[in-house]
Amino acid sequence: MTTQKSRIESEVDFSQHGKQVGHLRLPHSVHRSAYGWLPMPIASISNGDGPRVLLTSGTHGDEYEGQVMLTKLIRELGAEDINGQLIIAPMANYPAALAGLRTSPIDEGNLNREYPGNANGTMTQMIAHYIEEVLMPRCDCMFDFHSGGSSLLYVPSVQVQLESDGKLNPKVKTLAEAFACPVTQVYPFDDQGPMSESAARRKGLFYFTTELAGAGMVSPVAYQTAEHGIFRMLHKLGVLKTLPDNVSPEPPPTQYVNIDGGELFCYATEDGLFEPLVELGDWVQAGQPAAAMHTPESPLKDPTIIHFDAAGLVVCKRVPGRTLRGDCLYHIGTPWPAN
Ligand SMILES: [Zn+2]
Repeated sequence: MTTQKSRIESEVDFSQHGKQVGHLRLPHSVHRSAYGWLPMPIASISNGDGPRVLLTSGTHGDEYEGQVMLTKLIRELGAEDINGQLIIAPMANYPAALAGLRTSPIDEGNLNREYPGNANGTMTQMIAHYIEEVLMPRCDCMFDFHSGGSSLLYVPSVQVQLESDGKLNPKVKTLAEAFACPVTQVYPFDDQGPMSESAARRKGLFYFTTELAGAGMVSPVAYQTAEHGIFRMLHKLGVLKTLPDNVSPEPPPTQYVNIDGGELFCYATEDGLFEPLVELGDWVQAGQPAAAMHTPESPLKDPTIIHFDAAGLVVCKRVPGRTLRGDCLYHIGTPWPAN
């Protein structure tokens, strides 16, 4: 398959040294602007030889911790602080990030389900294609910062994909442990999927992603964890010359869990008002009551009790009260490696 040329133009020349901040021009031909484009922010901070690192956030527009963190990096870091190159896209799905929505209001596209994208496709497909075919080939590493968004809240977590032999890549392990969230979630190898992790595999990049917190806000504790984590990780990688004074070089410990398996998800089995019966960070047992689903419109009806299918650590829970059958209430992790 020949790779088609992207229709997205960059104001930033990624081959130039120094610090550049500009936009990717996303073609957007509409009634009010026939030849118009949308300005997706992008930065390149480059200084000589060293690791070349792609940092993205706002893949889902309602996940804010990463967007704040990467915006701050663009503002505060200069070329003199770097060995190598940082390419930073803080609003990776720009229309979604601008609207504060998980998916794009232009085409309903979920950027993290669109890789490898399409050079001549919808707006979201064009962005995915640009990231996989233009930005990733320029880089050695990619880190895509997610959180729970509007509907979920996480224990701040790093997520790492295992190798095809079920082991952790030693370099990715070192970087994930330098980032040092309280939880490190592992999941199986996949180089075929529509998510950024599979795209990074296809391009041979070292990669991890995060689930930093969520609930449609920025939690100060989770944000500080992430901000210290990114400085420590970039310093460990060798791309950041000096660690800021307020960031300890010693990472706090992390708990590894496996998050792969349908039994580790807990879903609403009917519509109603979600009363959580456990908290984030609790260890739960198989069969333990997880949630009561209430129907205040029928006050005499008993709530339906939903149970966990497996034992594990609650790493993620639903935020909104009003819930429909099929909505995810919790995701739990099991100790990894298994005994
Ligand atoms: Zn996300």
